[in-house]
Amino acid sequence: MADVTKFLAGIANFQQQYFGENAELANNLLAGQKPQALLIGCCDSRVDPALLTDSAPGDLFILRNIANLVPPYTKSDDYHGVSSSLEYAVCILEVSDIIVLGHSSCGGINALLESAGGQEAGEFIGKWVKIAQSALDKVLAELPEETPEKQARACEKEAILVSLKNLMTFPWVRDRVARGQLSLHGWYYNMGTGQLRYYNQLSGEYEILVERYSPKTGSQKNPPA
Ligand SMILES: [Zn+2]
Repeated sequence: MADVTKFLAGIANFQQQYFGENAELANNLLAGQKPQALLIGCCDSRVDPALLTDSAPGDLFILRNIANLVPPYTKSDDYHGVSSSLEYAVCILEVSDIIVLGHSSCGGINALLESAGGQEAGEFIGKWVKIAQSALDKVLAELPEETPEKQARACEKEAILVSLKNLMTFPWVRDRVARGQLSLHGWYYNMGTGQLRYYNQLSGEYEILVERYSPKTGSQKNPPA
């Protein structure tokens, strides 16, 4: 068995924090969960939604998959991991917000880009990331001469918009959004700077969500993406 002892100190800290110092929260959560938001993130080990947002247990209902993708609504005999998580969050927990969190240097999006060169990734990954095929098509049409890195960054951002669009194909999402009971958000995390941007539907641009804080320079305005 691989050595997992490095996680044990962390578990002890967690237990001390949430069952010792903050036992009230743990007790309250025993009665049930009422998270404000469903966060759909990537499996990437470097982009942990709870760490990134400094969330406590009970704050976020989190769904993670390769490249933070949402497939379109479809009723088929297949197993629907994303759709069932979405249904639970929206229809049972009645979250008020859904956040799709994408990120830079996404391996899933990279696999999608490589598929354009005829390289199909893995047994399942290649088909999965094709959910964002329209994002890739758009990037290749609009930025045909750009470097693979810039195409990848653009595709990561476009893929978030594909997931937001696909969310609206679920009738119970669409209805709640129309009634103002549910808001959809597209966020993009830059792994190099720690900066988060959000998609502004009015401007059609990703804009800074939280300014980066640096202990040396203080609050930094508009750092390069
Ligand atoms: Zn990723």
